[in-house]
Parts: sequence; structure tokens; C-alpha cells
Amino acid sequence: MATTDQDIRWDLSDLCPDAEEARSRLEAAAELANDIADRYRGRIAELDAAALRALLDELDELEQDLSRLGVYSYLRLSMAATEVEANDLATFSREKSADIENALVFVGLEWIAIDDDRAEELLTSDELAPYAHKLRVERLEKPYVLSEPEEKALNARRPMVSAWQSLHDRQVSTLEVPFDSGDGEGVQPHGISQLLSYLYRPERELRLRAVDTLFEGLEPRTDVLAAAYDALVGDRLTTDKLRGFEHPMQPTNMANELDDETVEAMMSVIEESYAIAQRWFRHKATLLALDELSLADQYAPIGEPRRFTWDEAVELVDSSYSRFSPRLAEIFRECLDAGHVDVLPRAGKATGAYCTTVSKQILPYVLMNFTNRLRDVSTLAHEFGHATHNVLALEGQTFRSHRVGLSMAEVPSTFAQSIADDYLLENETDPGTRAALAADRLENAFAAVYRQTVLARFEQRAYAVRGEGRSLAAERLNELWWEENGKYYGDSLVMPDQYRMGWSYIPHFIHTRFYTYAYSFAQLVALLLYRRYRESHNGFVPTYLDFLRAGGSASPADLVAPFGLDLRSTDTWREAFDVLGQFCDEAVTLSSQSQQ
Ligand SMILES: [Zn+2]
Repeated sequence: MATTDQDIRWDLSDLCPDAEEARSRLEAAAELANDIADRYRGRIAELDAAALRALLDELDELEQDLSRLGVYSYLRLSMAATEVEANDLATFSREKSADIENALVFVGLEWIAIDDDRAEELLTSDELAPYAHKLRVERLEKPYVLSEPEEKALNARRPMVSAWQSLHDRQVSTLEVPFDSGDGEGVQPHGISQLLSYLYRPERELRLRAVDTLFEGLEPRTDVLAAAYDALVGDRLTTDKLRGFEHPMQPTNMANELDDETVEAMMSVIEESYAIAQRWFRHKATLLALDELSLADQYAPIGEPRRFTWDEAVELVDSSYSRFSPRLAEIFRECLDAGHVDVLPRAGKATGAYCTTVSKQILPYVLMNFTNRLRDVSTLAHEFGHATHNVLALEGQTFRSHRVGLSMAEVPSTFAQSIADDYLLENETDPGTRAALAADRLENAFAAVYRQTVLARFEQRAYAVRGEGRSLAAERLNELWWEENGKYYGDSLVMPDQYRMGWSYIPHFIHTRFYTYAYSFAQLVALLLYRRYRESHNGFVPTYLDFLRAGGSASPADLVAPFGLDLRSTDTWREAFDVLGQFCDEAVTLSSQSQQ
């Protein structure tokens, strides 16, 4: 069964023949955008349903062209980060895309400006049905948009706002501390992500030192990091007041198409379920033969998983998908056959894994960095959860309506990973691999569900403090961070005192407020769907495929309604924790067995 892994690379010919061709097509797209602007600017309010439909169809085609060229240049860069031609093309592509976006921004603005009765008439027409939901969502912003001179004045502050963000980014990205990882290279400068990567290593001494070193390095910078955060929170609160938002989370909730009640119901149930994580942390301490688990042990590896060849990984994902729905396996194989997967790591290639959607005619592309680990098998299943979603959503929807926000985007990928993990757990005989898989699945869910909600609660408190006219100095942020994390870990894990500074390097706080709870949301919705599947099996599959085909043509609440899920109800969210509790039981059992 074990064949040597071949160096399977992307075939980009479905996208574009070469960089020169990409440039000339981008030029043509920019010309078309200007032409559309000449034809329609100042006229959106006059259009009837059929004419508006014709415009939206034309824009949909243009967007797909841009997507194809943008993906081509992005993938070129992912394959060779330092190649001059790839960099030149990426810059050119970004600039052209920005020009096109600017040329067409009037469409959205004029659409929002149309009065409500007229808009409603258009939205209920048959012609606009394929675009209706996205058009409705755009209009939700209307009450919070100010007059043109006010918007211009607010826009003029943008460079100042991004200066605070860049200052924060720079303080974080330039942090380098001397550290000896024990790999024989001696003391070397280490950045934050490098230090954090040691938390997944089996050597405890290395993990503890990495945490110490990280916070020693951050400490002298926390004042500046806090000042940047304080300035940004202050600015956001002021702008919110001008726009008339009721609370600091509202803009994010609106962007996620989630109502305040849903988000609060979810977060409160997550908090009441911290005990599941605490149970695992106590068990993990015994597995590692420790009196108490420390923060540095949280992600210490459990079990000793065996290695997997690429062919084996493909076989596993294929079989697990086939068992669920042959259609998903078919899409998976089509993408592989089309040369849309880049498999092995190599110098200059982007790290990590991703899936990128292209257009209605072209299958998505997937980047992997496959190194024969168990984790890579789960990643393959995850990325093709995205890919199968993309393909089916593009079959059912226009390009514009196939897109989903972050809160829904991670649902099919997490779900796909669950069915692949199940398949593996059922068929794998090696005890160390089974233990590792069960522990990984559980800890990944904790990181998404619990940690991301702790982060959002921390932000809520920071905005409240700032809103009461108190500053967000490092000392105060330390306190808030400590308290919210303390609720999560309880007495099941020891937080070292320096962990007070744990808020300081997190980019989401700086770039997109309350971004993180969408991860909790997606993970829990995936668990809820998984539970429905386990209960009803075959009855579930057609509804699930329809859900994938629906793409972003409805709100998250409406998308999951066919499964009988009411997201405003705390009882719904509690069901997800039954599944998480079962994952925890399974991880406890398998990890104990593998140690015997
Ligand atoms: Zn993903």
C-alpha cells in the first residue's frame, strides 16, 4: 500500500497561460469596469428589475474573471514567494483590482440610497431573486451611513487609524528573542510564532522555557501595545456613537448576519460549559504524570500517531466522503485529477493549508504541506470540506451569492473533518494513533469554541471600560485578561503570572473587533449538524447537500433552519456540548488505553 509520495504540483493552466496574458486580461477587466461605470453611474435608481438584473449578471461575470486572475497571481506567489515575476504580477493584480473596485463602488452606494418601498418592490421581483439576499444585507447598513461630507471626513482619518494598527503589527512582528530550542543549532533569534510552535512538542522543559521566553520578550513592549489598542478602541467607540450603533459588537454581528440575541445565547452556553475542558485538562495532567497541568502543557501531544503516505491519506478522505455522500467524493477526485492540489512542502512555497474558490467554470485549488502526519490527513479532509462547499454553492448560486461570511465558511470544513476523523477512528487499529486523533479533535474544538469566546469576552470588557472613560493601560488589560482566562481554566490548569500579558500580541483585537467568536460559532454549528447526522444518517444527507448548494443566499439562521436548529435558543447550543462531552469521553478512554 505504501508508495513513495510523488511531488504533485498545481497545474495552473485552467486559470491562465502565463503572467503576460494575466496582465492583459486584467487591463481588459479594468476597461470593462470603466465602461460599466460610464453606462450606469447615476442611473441605478432608474433601473427596473430586468435592467438591474442585467447589470448584476454583468458584474458577476466580471468578478469571476477577476477571481480567476487574482487566484492565478496569488497561487504563483504561493509557489515561489521570492520570484520576481510572481511578485510583480501580484502587485499589478492588487492595484488593478483596487482600481476596479473604486470604479464600481457607486453601484452599492446608489443601491443603498434607493428608498425603501422601491427597493422592496425590486427585491420581491422574480428577476432579482438570485441576488435578493445579498442586496438586502447591503441595505442593512443604511441607517448607519452618514452624509457624504461626514463620510469623507471619517474616511480621511483612515491613515491615522492604520498607523496605530501598523505600530502594533510592527511591535509584534519584529519581536525576536534569543532562544535555544535544543535542536543543536544553539541560541538563535526566535519570533512569536516560532516560540508558540514549541507548545506542541513532547519535551516539557522546552515548552515551559518557550512560554517564559515569549512573555519576557513581550513585557517591555506591552505599554506600546496597550497604547495602540487604547487608541483604536477609543476611535471605534467615537465612530460608533456618530453612526448610531447601540453597542460595540453590533457592526461585527451585522457583518456576520447574526442577531445580538444569537451571539449572546451562544457565548453564555459556552461559558457554562467550561467544565468539559477542565475535565480534560485534569485528565491530561495524569496522562503526563503531572500534579497540575500548566499553560505550557495545554497542547502537549498525546499518543504516538503512525505515519501516513499521501496515497493513504487520499484513500481515507475518499472513503469517508463516499460513505457520507458519493457526490462529495466525486468532487474530491475531480479536483485531484485536474491537478488542483499542491502536495509537498518545498523551499519558497507558502506554509500551512488553504482552499481557494475560483469561478463557476473552474474547480477550486487546494494548497497542502503534506508531511505524512496524522494531522495532515485531517487537514486534507478539512480543506476539501471547503472545496466541496465551493463547488456545490457555485452550482446552485450566482458568484456573488455563493460567498459566505466567516461564521458559515468554516462549518462545512469542520463537518468534513469530523466525518473523516470518525472513519479513521473506526478503521484504525494502532492505539497511539487513535489516542492522538481523539485528543487532537477535542483540543482543536476547545481552541475554536472556548478560547475564541474568552477572547471575545475580554474585548467586551475592554470596550465597556473604555466606554466608561477609563483608559486601557497595560495593567488594566492584564487584569481583564487574567479574569476571563481564569473563568475558563478554573483550577484545572495553572496560568503562570506572565500570562497576564497574553492579550498583547493578538492581531484580531487590532484589526477586526470581535472577529474571534465566529470561530466558536462555526465549530458549534458543525457539531450540531454532526449530531443531526449521527441521529438520522441518510435522511440528513440530502438536506446537507442542499445546505451546501445554498451558499450565501440566505442568513446563517435561515441556512440552518431546515435542520430544525433555532440559533437564538440556548437549548440548541447546549446540544452541541453533548457532542463535545462525547468527544471528551472518547479522548479520555483512548488516551488511557494507549498508555496501558
Ligand atoms: Zn478552514
